[in-house]
Amino acid sequence: MDKIDIRSLTLPELQEETAAMGLPKFRAGQIYSWLHQKYAASFDEMTNLGKDLRETLNERFELPNCTIVKKLESAVDGTIKYLYKLDDGEIIECVLMKYKYGYSICVSTQIGCNMGCTFCASTIGGCVRNLRPSEMLAEIYTAARDCGERISHCVLMGMGEPLQNYDNVLRFLELLTDANGMNMGARHISVSTCGIVPRIYDLMELHPQFTLSVSLHAPNDDIRRQIMPVSRKWPIEELLAACKDYTEATSRRISFEYAMIRGVNDTDACAEELAQRLKGMLCHVNLIPANEVRENDYQRSTDDRLRAFSAILDRRGITTTIRRTLGPDINASCGQLRRSHQANNKGEPV
Ligand code: SAH
Repeated sequence: MDKIDIRSLTLPELQEETAAMGLPKFRAGQIYSWLHQKYAASFDEMTNLGKDLRETLNERFELPNCTIVKKLESAVDGTIKYLYKLDDGEIIECVLMKYKYGYSICVSTQIGCNMGCTFCASTIGGCVRNLRPSEMLAEIYTAARDCGERISHCVLMGMGEPLQNYDNVLRFLELLTDANGMNMGARHISVSTCGIVPRIYDLMELHPQFTLSVSLHAPNDDIRRQIMPVSRKWPIEELLAACKDYTEATSRRISFEYAMIRGVNDTDACAEELAQRLKGMLCHVNLIPANEVRENDYQRSTDDRLRAFSAILDRRGITTTIRRTLGPDINASCGQLRRSHQANNKGEPV
């Protein structure tokens, strides 16, 4: 019989399992608390359960873990990048960022990605597999144990497209926000997507409290299609219509991510067109200097260009921030560390 992934179970599901094993009712609560409040990584740590019970649990359930293989700490701003090994040997990355309001963690939702954005290092080897709810939780719990800090915010902006791993991501978020678990506020969680339109509608019906972040990166389909293949399936019109519906249904502001790539999407004309498109929407634009990755030739826009672009949006009434680059000295952007780790292990130059 396959072992059941115990960290992916909700409390009522765990209660059912333990009842079927003939255990007293309070046991499920104890185990759940070990898993989701004390971040136990093995049954042996659950010291208020007898040894026999711990052994029985070990036979019946599995507890997938993230083992830290590398930890890089930025000397500039304290950002920590973790490289984790999963039980099947796959490598994922996760970033812990320190803000004025507390710690925020950037979680991967898939191993690799198959969305094919041309500037992104995560997608180069395609998508190896989806991450399970327990593995996404383990990304956070392992970091929380390691740093000893309370992690209050989470962004699904690591490797992968969250809305392509929809069911697992929703279960992960349900567990993450559970009052009996880590109890993270839904409003402290951002779900980021490259633009899977039907799933945006699903999300708004089910979970209007999550912040929606949309990777836009272009003001029109001509440019967007060159860098984001997803826009061939769902054009920008449809995407922005879904975003408008989202803000109307939820009263929540959408955050648009816009990586500034030199000579591709960073002209004044692009800024004007973007402002026109977003006019009247409840939104915010995050301008990000593109991270240069060695597998492509894209270059980041100059600081002057970023400021000029931002000024045009501001003048047109679109609120904008230029995102500071976190962990610039530790390769903190999407997929870069995993790739260099893989290359290293194959003896390739990094
Ligand atoms: N697939 C989801 C979640 C990934 S979030 C999404 O696309 O939203 C990671 C963010 O970093 C996305 O906005 C992505 O477009 C952006 N990104 C990827 N590579 C980048 C790079 N080289 N420079 C700047 N931003 C990048």
